[in-house]
Amino acid sequence: MKNYQYTSISGTEQNNAYEVTHVSQLKEYVDRTVIMHGSIYKIRKMKGFSFLILRTARFCIQCVCDDKELLNELQEETCVRMEAEVVREERAKLGVELHVKHLTILSAPAALMPVVINGKLMETSLETKLDFRPLTLRNEKERAIFKLQEGILRGFRSFLQENGFTEIHSPKIVYAGAEGGVNIFKLDYFGREAYLAQSPQFYKQMMVGVFERVYEVGPIFRAEKHDTARHLNEYTGVDFEMGYIESFHDVMEMEAGMLNATLTMLEQEYSFELELLGVRLPRIETIPALKFSEAKALVAERTGRVFRESHDFEPEEERLLSEIVERDTGSEFVFVTHYPAQKRPFYVMEDPENPGETLSFDLIFRGLEITTGGQRIHDYEMQLQKLQTRGMDPEAFESFLMMHRHGMPPHGGLGLGLERFTARLLGFENVRQACLFPRDINRLTP
Ligand code: ATP
Ligand code: MG
Repeated sequence: MKNYQYTSISGTEQNNAYEVTHVSQLKEYVDRTVIMHGSIYKIRKMKGFSFLILRTARFCIQCVCDDKELLNELQEETCVRMEAEVVREERAKLGVELHVKHLTILSAPAALMPVVINGKLMETSLETKLDFRPLTLRNEKERAIFKLQEGILRGFRSFLQENGFTEIHSPKIVYAGAEGGVNIFKLDYFGREAYLAQSPQFYKQMMVGVFERVYEVGPIFRAEKHDTARHLNEYTGVDFEMGYIESFHDVMEMEAGMLNATLTMLEQEYSFELELLGVRLPRIETIPALKFSEAKALVAERTGRVFRESHDFEPEEERLLSEIVERDTGSEFVFVTHYPAQKRPFYVMEDPENPGETLSFDLIFRGLEITTGGQRIHDYEMQLQKLQTRGMDPEAFESFLMMHRHGMPPHGGLGLGLERFTARLLGFENVRQACLFPRDINRLTP
């Protein structure tokens, strides 16, 4: 019999070199020797020495190296470990630079870069950027977008957690779509027809009956057959749902609080990336809200333009509304409420005093819808009737109706598109810029 040799892993021994990759603390190490690892982002040859820019987990650090032999061998994108002295240098971005004492090459690239990734700006088209995404994301500014996106989600999560929400994970292979329409991906599920989830709607409502307040961050699939600057075929949805609400205003209040807390967190913990990308954070004291019918009238009155679509906003109309509201109130956010029932899904509650109008809202930020939310139907008879009047088959929604049949509190919630929010926050025209590996009508790789 073979004798197997085990080694033991306790998880208590951490990689020491990692400690100093948090270079925000580098200043504390001035005049001392540190061990760092990272990738050679850029080599700038000078007389008698070279500047090496070391790309670490979060920062790019200027290093000075005068070892000729080593410099001959070194190429950009080589992964190295180095021993270096931390030296104060006011002209360097971080206020310190590293003087290389020893450098070990851990891995050298096998080929030259097909695109320039280490310039101040990435001067390539969005398509090229996306074609070479595994590489172009290494660009200092490009990756900062996604560091900020991490910060946005951290902000959302910690706010929701503090407010009693439980994080859930619902299936993405489903039996029926929640949002309706034609933009649903069909798939073959062992010979049966199934779909990719258009939203976690049914599941988060069911979970309100369990945990009262829930949220989910997960993929959402929409077979958008058009190529627009605001649609992806797979995006990250931030959804929450809360029970025992008095009205959908409770949901709007919660969202305003969540955005506020998140912007504060970004300001405190992501100033490096905010500065690098020149981001102007919006202020939220209170977010103005107006009814859909009023918003329509306001745009028509101020711009003299009438839009064809009367039950919804056209993108251009959203943009104009945003501009008007900002001019009037200073707010870059605006809630629009009471959308017509025709354009809203079957689970949305209608205003009992004004049937035809829904107890729902959209949040528009810098000219683009980033959220749809509202109060849901919790009463069994009401939900059943709504399905029937819409000509939908209640049997297809049996597990959804099971929840209503057995008692549900008044509840409501919302869905926010992470890429759309990120794009608006950073001032991007195209939502693809805020997605690591976008899926659009033409793109399935990388
Ligand atoms: P639109 O009218 O702009 O197509 P929607 O009203 O169909 O969007 P919802 O079903 O309300 O979208 O989805 C909730 C949120 O998810 C939206 O407010 C938006 O932020 C985001 N979202 C929706 N569809 C997409 C998409 N295809 N790509 C990226 N984000 C999306
Ligand atoms: Mg919407």
